Amino acid sequence: MIITDTHTHLYSEAFQEDRNDMIERALSLGVTRFFIPAIDASYTTSMLQLEKDFPEHVFLMMGLHPTHVNANYAEELQHVEEMLSQRHFYAVGEIGIDLYWDKSTLEIQKKAFKQQIKLAKKYKLPIVIHCREAFEEIFDVLETEKGDNLFGIFHCFTGTLEQAHQAISYNMKLGIGGVVTFKNGKLDQFINQIDLSHIVLETDAPYLSPVPYRGKRNESAYIINVLDKLAELYGLPKEKIAEITTQNSRDVFKI
Ligand SMILES: [Zn+2]
Repeated sequence: MIITDTHTHLYSEAFQEDRNDMIERALSLGVTRFFIPAIDASYTTSMLQLEKDFPEHVFLMMGLHPTHVNANYAEELQHVEEMLSQRHFYAVGEIGIDLYWDKSTLEIQKKAFKQQIKLAKKYKLPIVIHCREAFEEIFDVLETEKGDNLFGIFHCFTGTLEQAHQAISYNMKLGIGGVVTFKNGKLDQFINQIDLSHIVLETDAPYLSPVPYRGKRNESAYIINVLDKLAELYGLPKEKIAEITTQNSRDVFKI
């Protein structure tokens, strides 16, 4: 069984003490493909190191996270552009709009989002979207950018069934993680109405731990709890869920 974690911040300070052990725990369970979203330029060195340490398992993205879009964003975007021109990344991410932490930066968040979508199109890469309290704003941007050259993943999808269909209509897979195991997460009530061909698995480690680790540090090994939950909701063996979602990740990231 090959399990793919399509969104995990393995370079995070939260893993400073036990990073390699934590990665080995995941590998021993069959979680052997880690897709690593970028946040800002300050993490690039540690991301490249991670790739050096686990070249067969680690696949890097490049991008500027919406909560890190601030007065310096032009400089940050220049770094993203430079990195993309120098070597291969598997996606432009994570990018998007976050109105939970700061509404005052909405306009520059939108600009940064659009600019990075253009970069993804230029390099024929998928985008990995971060959306928090901003479905309408994100969909507005996707509506103006949609087309065959726009595709990717709606990371940590937590919307409604209708919003799920809308995201899928823009060639987005839904990144499903710990929230599907939450009692009040709502996703568990309708996710099995979405065809599995649109679903990929993720942890968003070190954030958003699934039950029974909710509230604690998350790690890629805990994706098993997400897999188990989806197997239950879809009424399928977990091997089948792993196989389909890994294939979906290959379709998106081309590896
Ligand atoms: Zn993330």
